[in-house]
Amino acid sequence: MSLPLYVQGAWFAGALLFIFGLKGMSSPASARKGIIIAGYGMLIAIAGTFLIPGLHNLGLMALALVLGGAAAWISGQKVKITDMPQMVAIYNGMGGGAAAAIAAIEFAKGDAHSTATTVLAVIGALIGAVSFTGSCVAWAKLQGVLKKAHRLPAQNGVNVLLALIAIGLGGAMVVLAPAQPELIFGFFAVALILGLIVTLPIGGADMPVVISLFNAFTGLAVGFEGYVLGNPALIIAGIVVGAAGTLLTQLMAKAMNRPLSNILFTPMVASGGGEAISGSMKEVGAIDAAAMMRYASKVIIVPGYGMAVAHAQHKVWEMTEILEEAGVEVKFAIHPVAGRMPGHMNVLLAEAGVPYDKIFDLEEINGEFGQADVALIIGANDVVNPSARTDKASPIYGMPILNADMAQNVIVIKRGKGTGYSGVENALFYTDNCRMLYGDAQPMAGEIIQHLKTMG
Ligand code: NDP
Repeated sequence: MSLPLYVQGAWFAGALLFIFGLKGMSSPASARKGIIIAGYGMLIAIAGTFLIPGLHNLGLMALALVLGGAAAWISGQKVKITDMPQMVAIYNGMGGGAAAAIAAIEFAKGDAHSTATTVLAVIGALIGAVSFTGSCVAWAKLQGVLKKAHRLPAQNGVNVLLALIAIGLGGAMVVLAPAQPELIFGFFAVALILGLIVTLPIGGADMPVVISLFNAFTGLAVGFEGYVLGNPALIIAGIVVGAAGTLLTQLMAKAMNRPLSNILFTPMVASGGGEAISGSMKEVGAIDAAAMMRYASKVIIVPGYGMAVAHAQHKVWEMTEILEEAGVEVKFAIHPVAGRMPGHMNVLLAEAGVPYDKIFDLEEINGEFGQADVALIIGANDVVNPSARTDKASPIYGMPILNADMAQNVIVIKRGKGTGYSGVENALFYTDNCRMLYGDAQPMAGEIIQHLKTMG
């Protein structure tokens, strides 16, 4: 069926706005605008869809929109920034599931499609179904519903076997098109189980890469199903998401220094490092921490997940401004996987008003720790753990870390002796130049501010 020009025009306009939106998201300064532009794109694409002449089930479509829109609106308003990764994971899963559902309906209708179109529908369905259940597992792990990594005996063999069965059933659906309901059901069941089985053993610090990979999968699945439906907005949006997700996956895997194959097939589990840690943790008070920074010439701040939990970013910026007024040079060092989502720390610091020229990536700042009088670590742990450099038994071995241990003095603000996301002890906290300032990051930053003010 050829569609009226206004429908096609709306879809193309939507697709163009997705691209401009994504461009906006490439910098924290324009990210909010980018999201809004992409949102308008979605609105226009949906409006165009409703204008298709002779459309059936308009009531059901409207109901789905109202239910989905309301659920997203409410959860979007309520979600805490620290819970954002789970939200991204589950929304991403919904996208994959929707792509798989589109394919399922097309197969169930049994309409004649060209072989090429059926092949694309099968590939999209497989990727979408894997992304759906895989993302649900990722959500459950990040939400703390699933606490352990579950690994089957001969896990990789099972993965390969399931993938081969899914591909075989998909191939049969192409050859025997239109496929029987049993075949369609079997194909989807195996694909959904595959997503579960592949993701269950992945644990520890690998989850960000996995979410990003499923994001790329969902994009591809949506793109393929867009082709099946002849919908350019879906094709372009799918390609954009697929490409962005693939790039992000590569960047994250590089940031953790782990090849993707290694992440998926030899997952790390929180088990504790192998190297014995000697020394003891030495406490410091807020007044001494304030003095060390006030009389320093250079301070590098390393924020981590704990700063996000404590909502301490505004206090941290206030503290920075006081230090700068006193002539101290202050820089922020951001690890690519600090916090619980890509760009987590950048978003928080931007929200607090920290100028972008004070925020540095790992490669930019790592050489400067040696000249810093103080490295102030606020609620970060794994991203400054030196055992990642040397301890082959550590689950974070090989991940590049911020060289905070190379600063003259290290001050760590954290509540107690809790480990980081990967569950391993941090040798840095036991070193001679490190002092622990125990407490919640926000009141601690507040105390430092009070002392700094009295120091003039
Ligand atoms: P970590 O999770 O390694 O450590 C956070 C530390 O913050 C804990 O040791 C905890 O210690 C402390 N903390 C918690 N709450 C508070 C608080 N209210 N005030 C002060 N301190 C607090 O964080 P990092 O940012 O260093 O590392 C991120 C980790 O998360 C990496 O392993 C990364 O791979 C993983 N990850 C990253 C994602 C991403 O995309 N960025 C997504 C998912 C996982 P204590 O309990 O003693 O206070």
